[in-house]
Amino acid sequence: MFTFANGVHPKGCKELSAGSGIGRGPEPKNVYVPLSQHIGAPAVPVVEAGERVLCGQLIAKAAAGLSANVYSPVSGTIKGVVGHITLSGKKKNHILIENDFLEEKTFLPHMEEITGESVLARIAEAGIVGMGGAAFPTAAKLNVQGKNVDFLVVNGAECEPYITCDYRIMLEYAQEFLQGVRYCMLAAGVKRAVIGIEDNKKDAIAKLSSLAGDGVAVKALKTKYPQGSEKQLVYSCLKRVIPENKLPADAGVVVVNVHTALAVYKAVAEDTPCYERVMTVSGKAVATPKNIWVKNGTLYRDVAAFCGADENCARIVSGGPLMGEPVFSLKVCTGKGTSSLLFLDESECESKNAEPCIGCGRCVQACPMGLSPVFIERALFDKNYEEAEAYGAAYCIGCGCCSYVCPAKRFLVQSVKLAKKEVRARADKKRREAEKKNG
Ligand code: SF4
Ligand code: SF4
Repeated sequence: MFTFANGVHPKGCKELSAGSGIGRGPEPKNVYVPLSQHIGAPAVPVVEAGERVLCGQLIAKAAAGLSANVYSPVSGTIKGVVGHITLSGKKKNHILIENDFLEEKTFLPHMEEITGESVLARIAEAGIVGMGGAAFPTAAKLNVQGKNVDFLVVNGAECEPYITCDYRIMLEYAQEFLQGVRYCMLAAGVKRAVIGIEDNKKDAIAKLSSLAGDGVAVKALKTKYPQGSEKQLVYSCLKRVIPENKLPADAGVVVVNVHTALAVYKAVAEDTPCYERVMTVSGKAVATPKNIWVKNGTLYRDVAAFCGADENCARIVSGGPLMGEPVFSLKVCTGKGTSSLLFLDESECESKNAEPCIGCGRCVQACPMGLSPVFIERALFDKNYEEAEAYGAAYCIGCGCCSYVCPAKRFLVQSVKLAKKEVRARADKKRREAEKKNG
């Protein structure tokens, strides 16, 4: 079985929503569409208060540099650009649209010619970003001209517990997803692709294996967290190592997620830009866990009500339980990268009272990046950032394996992330000073 070194085996909990076919989600009265649903600069509004818009109409244009277009997920009236709370607790600009429930749609112009160049341009036009959660603009990622890239790796691992939206897409939109993979190959100029899927999704592996071909292969991967993390996935699928401080392109690969490939299919074949996505809503505090299409800009509260989730449950998480973020307000809105919302009861949450380290070394054995979290934490507490750097803090991928295995319940992932931030800030400062010195 194909896999990587170290990692952990958390309880999957996927049975809660795995059997739920993808349905339609809530039809909200108001949507708050974030201008920042991606890595890079926020999009720039191109609509004004009072204007009527159609579903699929451009409402904010990508800013210069790294950015992404934003489209209306409903037909209705623009109420304005408003500051609205985000997951970080900070307010950021969103476009507030009042839904008229007429569902009038507009589409991108039909593509006459399908070439690598035209597909790349369409991906940028449609505002597609990495939908596994990273939200990196996909056109920028697939634009690997001049680099020695020969493989597309598709992330179908879906290794975080609870989440099943990619699994359902692979089952229910198999043909469309595979065609999306082929469009991504065309855009990146590669002739071969491999779809890596954890072996807890045997029916998806069987279905896609029977339909793949033409340079696309399916690889069953060991069910182990974090199998879907970029470095681990590339190694498991191709035995290629992404060098430290480098990108997948430096190992000759470009990586996209399952939902991203489906979004590419919709943009190219159906002229539909990116304004909604499939989300998993799960956890024992949800009456009926589901996989549903949710319009970007839907309040978490509307999603919770639609699925019968207990808003007062023990913990609410956006994303997976290991790498996701805690939700402190249900006024936050969904975006292109919101893969799941989890409503967990007491039995699903560990109480976290950190105790002194017992020196068992489990965090070291679990770290998929080969780091020593326990020593990085100590270096952080001593404010010894040289030592934190020497223990590799800069290479932490934030997977949470160290915290997961620690019998003393130490907040290791938070400590290592903090150390990484300090190490990076000091390296940046050093670089700026050197640049200044050298004129
Ligand atoms: S140190 Fe970072 S990469 Fe290693 S297990 Fe902890 S969170 Fe993951
Ligand atoms: S797993 Fe926890 S207790 Fe064990 S060495 Fe690491 S920090 Fe210490």
